[in-house]
Amino acid sequence: MIDDSVIAAVATPAGVGGIATLRVSGEKSIEICDRVFRSINGKKLNDLKGYHAAFGKIYDKEQPVDEAVCLVFRAPHSFTGENVVEITCHGGIFVIQKVLRVVLENGAVPAQPGEFSKRAFLNGKMDLSGAEGIMSIISSQGEQGLNASLNLLEGSLSRKIDSVAQSLIDICAHISAWVDYPDEEIEELDENNILDTLSSAHNELKELTDKFDSGMAVTTGVEAAIIGKPNAGKSTLMNLLTGFERSIVTDVKGTTRDVVEETVNIDGCILRLSDTAGIRDTDDTVEKLGVERSREKIKRSAIVLAVFDSGDELTDEDRTLIDLCKEKPVIPILNKSDKETKIDRDYIESTLGRCIEMSAKNGTGLDELRDRVTTLLGTKNFDSNAAMLANERQRQCCLNALSSIEDAVNTLKSGFTLDAAGICIDDAVSALLELTGKRASQAVVDKVFSNFCVGK
Ligand code: GDP
Repeated sequence: MIDDSVIAAVATPAGVGGIATLRVSGEKSIEICDRVFRSINGKKLNDLKGYHAAFGKIYDKEQPVDEAVCLVFRAPHSFTGENVVEITCHGGIFVIQKVLRVVLENGAVPAQPGEFSKRAFLNGKMDLSGAEGIMSIISSQGEQGLNASLNLLEGSLSRKIDSVAQSLIDICAHISAWVDYPDEEIEELDENNILDTLSSAHNELKELTDKFDSGMAVTTGVEAAIIGKPNAGKSTLMNLLTGFERSIVTDVKGTTRDVVEETVNIDGCILRLSDTAGIRDTDDTVEKLGVERSREKIKRSAIVLAVFDSGDELTDEDRTLIDLCKEKPVIPILNKSDKETKIDRDYIESTLGRCIEMSAKNGTGLDELRDRVTTLLGTKNFDSNAAMLANERQRQCCLNALSSIEDAVNTLKSGFTLDAAGICIDDAVSALLELTGKRASQAVVDKVFSNFCVGK
């Protein structure tokens, strides 16, 4: 339900800048701002049409606070769909907080995180995936990612999901009509036609889930684990990729005990790299903790860089490691290629695929590594104009829809009645409507917007 309170929050980042903006939204927002703002030409904000601005001063009772420009948006033509005033004043931390306080003292309440976007959603200005596009834009770390997020905001995903959902709704409607009104002359649906529609819906959704990791890699970034036994050269590799000395590089085995994290942009592919302690069973409690975290890390990572010391024979530790990451997208790296090779390359390649020879110390092999990373994560030819899933919530909805479609196909193929398949198809539709927010529960809506920052 939409409340009639007027919310206010600083929309620009906390810090000193040229200007800062306070957003005020709600039916009475213009009235409240008129209490604190006096324009130089004496005009009230309430006399302004939408998209018009006035220059003047903000006052705390009779005391001027700062010069300001107030931009008026009139419902429904605003971000939230309500009356909105954006007050832009000088960008000092103290001054904008003071303006906020004056506005709050005159009848507004502080906005909760994401409340502006939530009001926009509740007023039908955007759907859930569009709102998540905004989140994605804010957190985008690269050009491709920003473009993909903009597309999300503009509805590329919703259009795709809506069209898949519509094709399924059409089948459901037909089945229901046929089952519920047996006396009417409703044509029975041809099972092959249903199977065709289900198959194309499945393909479209599968394409989205398959591209999920690539999409994440160009927007918010994916986790990447650098693993290897102590002294293989993990920290050196991490330093090479991040370009500065973040990990401690030493000759003593097991120095990198904890997980160190850094974000790097490899040709548009954003990796959240973590350098972990070597995988090994140990009685040392401190190190054991690090080891457990490493196993966890491999599980969570979208890609693993497995580092081997090519100057050493393959050890049990290396084999354990190979075993742990063999199910993952992994790039095996034979480090220290500047030294004489002793490692059993064939063994590694038989399980993990083609190795890269590198010298993390000298930087050789880096280009090949970059190439392999972008190929493996599918970001090389990533089409940032195509629809993509922006987060785990959307992916889960898609997976649920896929599984219901598969159930429907199995039901039909096992000779059950059409209405049994109809129930499964209806479940798939529900999952898709939850994705776009058209049938999302209050809890889901609250969860989505709670991830936003205040002022958005
Ligand atoms: P980690 O324990 O796996 O993080 O290994 P480090 O990055 O701390 O490296 C261990 C030792 O190997 C250090 O003395 C590095 O200078 C050295 N090292 C790392 N990469 C190379 C390399 O490509 N060639 C040679 N010769 N030494 C390297």
